[in-house]
Amino acid sequence: MDGLIAAISTAWGESGIAIVRISGDGSRNLVDIFFRGGVALAQTPPRFMRHGFITDQDGQEIDEVLAVWFRGPNSYTGEESAEIHCHGGTVAARRCLERCLALGARLAMPGEYTRRAFLSGRLDLAQAESVIGIIRARSDESLRSAVKSLRGSLSERVGEIHEEMLEISVLGEANLDYPEEDIPPLDPGAFSGRLALIGEKLRLLLSAARSGRFLREGIRVAITGRPNVGKSSLMNAFLEESRSIVTSMPGTTRDIIEEVMTHKGIPLRLVDTAGIRSPRDEAEHEGVLRARAAMKEADIRIWVIDGSEDLTGEDIGIAEELRGTCHVVAINKSDLSLVVTESRMKEILPLGDVIIISAATRAGIEELKDLIVLSVAGRTSLEEDLNTTERQVEEMKRALELIMQTLDALGRGTGLDAALDSLNEARACIGRILGVSADEFLLDRIFSSFCIGK
Ligand code: GDP
Repeated sequence: MDGLIAAISTAWGESGIAIVRISGDGSRNLVDIFFRGGVALAQTPPRFMRHGFITDQDGQEIDEVLAVWFRGPNSYTGEESAEIHCHGGTVAARRCLERCLALGARLAMPGEYTRRAFLSGRLDLAQAESVIGIIRARSDESLRSAVKSLRGSLSERVGEIHEEMLEISVLGEANLDYPEEDIPPLDPGAFSGRLALIGEKLRLLLSAARSGRFLREGIRVAITGRPNVGKSSLMNAFLEESRSIVTSMPGTTRDIIEEVMTHKGIPLRLVDTAGIRSPRDEAEHEGVLRARAAMKEADIRIWVIDGSEDLTGEDIGIAEELRGTCHVVAINKSDLSLVVTESRMKEILPLGDVIIISAATRAGIEELKDLIVLSVAGRTSLEEDLNTTERQVEEMKRALELIMQTLDALGRGTGLDAALDSLNEARACIGRILGVSADEFLLDRIFSSFCIGK
């Protein structure tokens, strides 16, 4: 691997300690150039902390530190590496890093340590990607799920499918290429059966990936309805009842209010998409576009209606927009006498659940939260979650699609040739999750989403 790299691996800002990490052959000797301890690292066994001082080019002390080195392959990157634990704050660590760079190390690129861990074979690609899940975890559950992936549970399941695909391919290829040899002829029924089993495993994997995504990123909930039905009141009822810390997610659409709460460990990202109606001016036009986008992107939509009044034309318009989407109808204001019934709403939108609530008295609010989680993540057991990235999910989906196509082609009597081609293509998708066939371009994309120092 190309040379020595160094970076500050802890977050910027004031803190107790900051760690500068150096990796590559010669890390230990590089530290010894400017580390003044009772004993040099060269005379220190690996993984043994030494106390001392780091010095600048004139021999002046920069900071009091602890230094340690790791012998490859027993380090994070799998290569020789070293760490200097400086005092926190930005100056000491930055000067320590500058010393490393002046002495021949190069500043690490984002994710380069983890990339080296992958290239040295210490982690497979799925495990390496889970590191970012750990760094970004927002709740205990999402942390648990990312650690599980790092320990290899995703790799294990994906690896099993990959192995199975390989076996079937080999069987098929042997039949095609060496028909005269003494290979048992391929029973098309058994062949399809094994393929179908792989399809089933991929489906389960995808659903576990789905619940992993919900744990990590939360369920996007859009609250919609005409003005004055109680959308803001519902939002408040949700947030006040939630005992967890309420934060605003960064990077969300500016004009749309988004709040986050957790329910049973799952973050619910609530978006108030007020004002989906004919825009009166240019500014409102922009707002409507954003509200519509939020509606589309949501995992579930809550349609709030005022149960104390008859439905209006505007309500019926919203119902049309919701048809075919994942939604829940919330008949609000149950503390007043209701004129809208559950059965009436069922007639209008037969596919979604209907629930009666009162944002004012908070009746039915807990049930509504349960219903949201159940409707979106219900079919997947949340114990069965996997920490996956968007990229991994895309590969799984594509592989499943290809398997289904293969099965379909076999069913229509297409030749084994074509079936094997698409099976191989599906196997390549799965291989890319593990990094079996990872190319440089793919690695660049994956690791560039990490922070520097990881
Ligand atoms: P939005 O325009 O849809 O956001 O509606 P708001 O949340 O601003 O509520 C409109 C009006 O309905 C306010 O006067 C609320 O106090 C009232 N309201 C909201 N929810 C309830 C409810 O459950 N019961 C009663 N009685 N009034 C409610």
